[in-house]
Amino acid sequence: MRKPLILLGLFLGAASYPSSQCLRVLSAPISVPSALSISLLSSSQTEKPEWCRPLPRPEYKSLQGIPINDPWFEVYKVAPGVFAIYEPHQAEETISYLIVGTKQALLFDTGMGIGNIRKVASQLTARFVVVLNSHTHNDHVGGNWQFNFVYGMDTAFTRASAKGSREDAQAEIAPDQLCGDLPKAFNPKTYATKPWKISRFIHEGFKINLGGRTLEVLSTPGHTPDAISLLDRANGLLFTGDTYYPAPIWLYRPETNLDAYVNSVKRLAALAPQLKLVLGAHNIPIAQPDVLPRLADAIQAVRAGQGTVKPDGDGKALHTFGGFSFLLAAARKE
Ligand SMILES: [Zn+2]
Repeated sequence: MRKPLILLGLFLGAASYPSSQCLRVLSAPISVPSALSISLLSSSQTEKPEWCRPLPRPEYKSLQGIPINDPWFEVYKVAPGVFAIYEPHQAEETISYLIVGTKQALLFDTGMGIGNIRKVASQLTARFVVVLNSHTHNDHVGGNWQFNFVYGMDTAFTRASAKGSREDAQAEIAPDQLCGDLPKAFNPKTYATKPWKISRFIHEGFKINLGGRTLEVLSTPGHTPDAISLLDRANGLLFTGDTYYPAPIWLYRPETNLDAYVNSVKRLAALAPQLKLVLGAHNIPIAQPDVLPRLADAIQAVRAGQGTVKPDGDGKALHTFGGFSFLLAAARKE
């Protein structure tokens, strides 16, 4: 899960981030606009939430778009047999990945559950589609219920998530979380993360043979206890879920374990020399592998008290170091 940041300084802050970073550093809450934002907005822009105004992100221009018959999603071919399924109309900007082999395909996350991702997958492949989640926050499991075969990590967190929930889902469709129209068939009143059935429990090291392509499950807990990364070793692809994506990484919720996160990131950093592409689960689908050792350095520096810290209300603080940022629980005053 990664709900939007509500921070001061979109207009000042964005320019100081490297282009592959940030971009979800938002301005003041819509209900309490800062004087700066008011002065920069024309009346026609005031309806749009601030995260939505810079879209489409320029990085998408260089990707190969695949036309599909559903305006809620955008699809990009990011490697041979690999499609990024992007949801640009909601603040999470979630990205799910369809990875196609000669015998079957795997959908790594199923998005928000706002649009019909099963239909999108069926437009991209005729093969049987199995589902595996990078972790089971609501914004990555919304379409799980639509599929007949869903792998699950064997954790209590995964089992609890599979029961579904309503509160997190409802928060995702507040007006300031949306950019453009919801799908016509969508009913906001009944929107919830629907429960799903786990077909098979899996563990660290589990391999899935799609035919001509093998995927390896790397347990990378931290963001959640069931967070995994998915490695396509032969093709040098690493799908990182919410362990890495190019925006402030959310590490403040009770299910987050920071020690585990640091260990997981170090493990991924060690893989960088074998990789060609790193594919995260929000905002922009591709990054270069050197991002991983830099991420490992950054989170360790932050934990050692380096970098800058800005309070972010609600007991959270945004820590920034070396072009990365992390949203952590604020240090408690004893
Ligand atoms: Zn998450």
